[in-house]
Amino acid sequence: MCTNPEEVLCDSNVNPYVAKAAEARELFNQLEEKVRLEPEVLMYIRSRPLESGQKGEDCSDLRNIDDYVQCAMIRTKYLKRYIYTPERSAVATKFFEQAQADLISYLTRRMELLPAMGAKQAVSMTQKMIAKIKATKLYLGQVDEQDHRFEFNAYQIGVIPSTQRTFWKRITGSTLRDYVYIEGYILFADSVPQALYQTMVHELGHVIDGTDFPSSDDGRNPFARDYECLRRSDSVDARRADIACYEEKLRLEESRNEPYRAKLYRRAIAEMRANPLALPVIPDLRAGEQSCQMDQLNEAFSDWLSAEVFAFSRGNRMMPKGGGETKNSIESRDSVFQMVAIRCNKTGGSTAAEMAEKRKDSHPLSSDRINKIIMASPMVRGAIGCFADSVYVPVRNLNQLPQANTIGMCGMWQYLPLDIGGQ
Ligand SMILES: [Zn+2]
Repeated sequence: MCTNPEEVLCDSNVNPYVAKAAEARELFNQLEEKVRLEPEVLMYIRSRPLESGQKGEDCSDLRNIDDYVQCAMIRTKYLKRYIYTPERSAVATKFFEQAQADLISYLTRRMELLPAMGAKQAVSMTQKMIAKIKATKLYLGQVDEQDHRFEFNAYQIGVIPSTQRTFWKRITGSTLRDYVYIEGYILFADSVPQALYQTMVHELGHVIDGTDFPSSDDGRNPFARDYECLRRSDSVDARRADIACYEEKLRLEESRNEPYRAKLYRRAIAEMRANPLALPVIPDLRAGEQSCQMDQLNEAFSDWLSAEVFAFSRGNRMMPKGGGETKNSIESRDSVFQMVAIRCNKTGGSTAAEMAEKRKDSHPLSSDRINKIIMASPMVRGAIGCFADSVYVPVRNLNQLPQANTIGMCGMWQYLPLDIGGQ
């Protein structure tokens, strides 16, 4: 368990949440299909003008934004009936608010630990992060015309929300709004609820990741050293975007005389040049084509942050002194089982070529996300009884960071004095 937590915690004989997470995913697919096939939704779609070449099976096939909004409103009625029930929405909202509050406490505590001298910029960036987290909304398929207009525009630039189970999104321009968008993950509310909380923290992490807050170590970003750590091969080895590969694809699209696809690549390359951590919208791959390496730092950061906030919000309560079990330590272990369960790789049996493709995704491999990020935290390890290799050193300020002393941990796991006495 302590050497390779992923292997043990993803075994459904050991961890009952692995099967529960798989059932929730399956149920979501069924319910989503049920909504898609609702006669009222299909009839509306087929009565309106369609995008050329579309069959009229989904609201996104519609040509006009007003039609789309109307279609989405009808669809939402059924989504609410089958998926976003009041019970599940209440659980999701509760976890979202808790995640928001825990993350704000964590950021506030970090800010207090910044060295008094010379940390003005890091303090001001942390304050901006807190303000953004406060302003973030939970998106639960609510009937909101403005949201659907936003959604339509997302389709227009090639973001297809329904293919992604959970993500944050953002529009820029005259308004700047951040959302945590929970789709199928809401079904975890029924049977793997702590995973939903973890997901909320992860998604909120993206609101303050390197996309908007420059990650370079120039004293501004309070997480600069953590970013650096996540790049290291003895940590999760978060890869950098392969911009040359995208340039190659751009040249290919130009030579094929595909101006729209070329334009998307051109815009993506410009975004990555402006910010190496950007995760721009990349056109869909053609059949048989290989993808380019995406930058993995933002995803690694969000995973790491979710483990940090989890440990911070529970504090020493998750690791009872003297080895005895407490209600808190049992609950904490159970939560770790849940947060790992939803990361377990569902596919299995992948070929080397498939693995190589997966390694290019913006997310590190699931086994690395579990073993090298979540389960690399001494606090989280402690919650499952792996104490021996966990060293927890409270520090008074972030400049006195002790050096990494255990592989995969970097120094960052020892940041915060969790001054919570007793149980
Ligand atoms: Zn993410």
